[in-house]
Amino acid sequence: MSALLPGTATLGVLGGGQLGRMFVHAAQAMGYRCIVLDPDADSPAGAVAEKHIKADYLDSLGLAQLARDCDAITTEFENVPAVALETLANMRVVAPSGAAVAVCQDRAVEKAHFEAAGVPCAPHAVITNDIELAAVDPSLLPGILKTSRMGYDGKGQVRVSTPAELAAAWADLKRVPCVLEQLLPLRRELSVLVARGADGQVVNWPVQQNLHRGGILAVTEVPAPDVPAEVDRLAVAAARQVADALNYVGVLCIEFFWLTDGRLVVNEMAPRPHNSGHWTMNGCNVSQFELQVRALAGLPLPEPRQHSASVMLNLLGDLWFSEAGGPTPPAWDRVLALPGTHLHLYGKSDARHGRKMGHLNITADSPEAAHAVAQQAAAMLG
Ligand code: ADP
Ligand code: MG
Repeated sequence: MSALLPGTATLGVLGGGQLGRMFVHAAQAMGYRCIVLDPDADSPAGAVAEKHIKADYLDSLGLAQLARDCDAITTEFENVPAVALETLANMRVVAPSGAAVAVCQDRAVEKAHFEAAGVPCAPHAVITNDIELAAVDPSLLPGILKTSRMGYDGKGQVRVSTPAELAAAWADLKRVPCVLEQLLPLRRELSVLVARGADGQVVNWPVQQNLHRGGILAVTEVPAPDVPAEVDRLAVAAARQVADALNYVGVLCIEFFWLTDGRLVVNEMAPRPHNSGHWTMNGCNVSQFELQVRALAGLPLPEPRQHSASVMLNLLGDLWFSEAGGPTPPAWDRVLALPGTHLHLYGKSDARHGRKMGHLNITADSPEAAHAVAQQAAAMLG
């Protein structure tokens, strides 16, 4: 395909959350027009796009309008029905493909893909019926039972220690298809973002270290402290292998567990820019959103180069409730007085507990300096 040139082409996004919003910002900065399809009248991406089609993801009229008015279309979340992407792909350039997104939508299929690509993942068993439940190898316990589909931010997961707890947990999850994973001793959680073009060119950002609280990403640090060169090399090689094996086009994030015994196993992947890559907006010469735009448009992909040590703090709605009474925004004027702080808010009007409202990127000349400012900012945010 020939490249869709900035200044003339229109790019479409399925999904109107914050990832779509930051994609739209990056695309508009380059001169593309953007159209967002999302059912929510109040969507963060719909509010900044040139046009917001308020329709369901399976609404054929909405999809037809998106296809008619856009030259290429992407998605900003993995639970968009893969058939919507496939429908659009009959008419327009679509990246990532419905087939690649479908792999990421189902943990069982995803794990089979990792194994086929030669990348180790956690020991696990797929549970879809009583026979598979009874056949579970006891060595997988203690483990985490996860619904195969629709899980995110730790939702749809139950820790189980015995076969009886496993059976009860599966009943609680309404016996939907699940994956039981062995509970692994984690040293750290890492992730790697790659961008891959339709011509097979792959570039990657440096290995990121992620800290989760309550199943939700809280802090990302880059460079990842204390990661040995060999682990770093393995993580990048695995991410590239997974992207190649999917014939993937666009930005893909692979999450890893680095275990206490030093081994590296892949956890899961996301077929889109990722929360752990938000630091690239300020700490790198090219952001994950810019390369998502370029990959979709068929433009060259420059090799990302980190220019600043970076820490990203996720800003959840809880911060709006740190004092008694109704929601009040944090004291941004104080936080932004700290050196190297860059605020990104997603334009969500109502703060709620656990809701991702924005993120704060901190850049500095050294990881120690970035870390020190992050601690000050976190203390101010309460
Ligand atoms: P989600 O799709 O909700 O992000 P994950 O599979 O990434 O689900 O699990 C959420 C978090 O739970 C992980 O980031 C990790 O902290 C913990 N976790 C998940 N699986 C395991 C495991 N097999 N062993 C230990 N911890 C795990
Ligand atoms: Mg995860």
